[in-house]
Amino acid sequence: MAGEKKRFTVKFRGVRGSHPVPGADTVRIGGNTSCVEVHAGSHLIILDAGTGIVSLGNDLMKDHYSSGGDINGRSRITFTILFSHTHHDHTQGFAFFKPAYLPTSTCYLYGPRLAEEEVEDGLSKAMVSPYFPVQLSDLSSLRSIRSLRESETILYRDSENGPKIVNFYRDNHAAEPCDVKIRVMRSFAHPNGGVFVYRIEMNGKSLVYATDTEGYVGGDQRLIHFATGADLLIHDSQYMHKDYIRKNEVYVQGFGHSSVDMAADVAAQANVGNLALYHYDPQYGDSTVLEMEKRAQSIYKKSIAAYEGLEIEL
Ligand SMILES: [Zn+2]
Ligand SMILES: [Zn+2]
Repeated sequence: MAGEKKRFTVKFRGVRGSHPVPGADTVRIGGNTSCVEVHAGSHLIILDAGTGIVSLGNDLMKDHYSSGGDINGRSRITFTILFSHTHHDHTQGFAFFKPAYLPTSTCYLYGPRLAEEEVEDGLSKAMVSPYFPVQLSDLSSLRSIRSLRESETILYRDSENGPKIVNFYRDNHAAEPCDVKIRVMRSFAHPNGGVFVYRIEMNGKSLVYATDTEGYVGGDQRLIHFATGADLLIHDSQYMHKDYIRKNEVYVQGFGHSSVDMAADVAAQANVGNLALYHYDPQYGDSTVLEMEKRAQSIYKKSIAAYEGLEIEL
């Protein structure tokens, strides 16, 4: 509606890296793996499908049935999932995301082509028999699954349900009318082909999602350029800096994850509105994550440790 502020909200559904960690020591920060729910105007955009996506699916189903469900066709769930990559901690919740099973749902699933494999093949393998009882192709929803290229941009219009993908360089994207725009950057700082970093923009506000990425000497300048001026930067923060240097008996440099110092350094150089630390090592309990938050704030004041259920309005 004209003059009415459109919703641009972020809700963290899972903030852990590697594997879920339920238990008394993770109650405050949460134990589910990577998933962030974004509402940009009327569009639901989900960043990664770790186990955090399961609770989002359950909430969507509640709304779906309370508004009539499939019977009268009044409620139809449409969503986009942007996969950073197809490692388990970013896909393992998808098979338990109930809206994907509904014949009235429409899913747009996008991510990088990795290790010579399209994103659809990667998702299919995550649900392959005999390791899972339902195949990706068995799901009743309408699905559009596509690998993206770094040269592509995703555009949404409020008047249309689904997104449109254009070539950032070749198509006259600037002239495309759109309400939400998503740009893609490939980071090579993660094993086996890297990850996609996404920048979601609406009404002059923006959010950058940079998980599973490791820092470089002087900061990852491509990422800093890509994230410049974002209102919110969600950045991989797997390790305390001392553990990044040496974690117990293990050297973790090159594993494709950042220390909290690296995340804060990117935020400072990119001059973002706020930094949300994300994708914590599963061995870290609540107190360690809160220590990370303090450490981040000592480098970049506007830092917060993301936790399950945290909502931010842009
Ligand atoms: Zn991960
Ligand atoms: Zn990964």
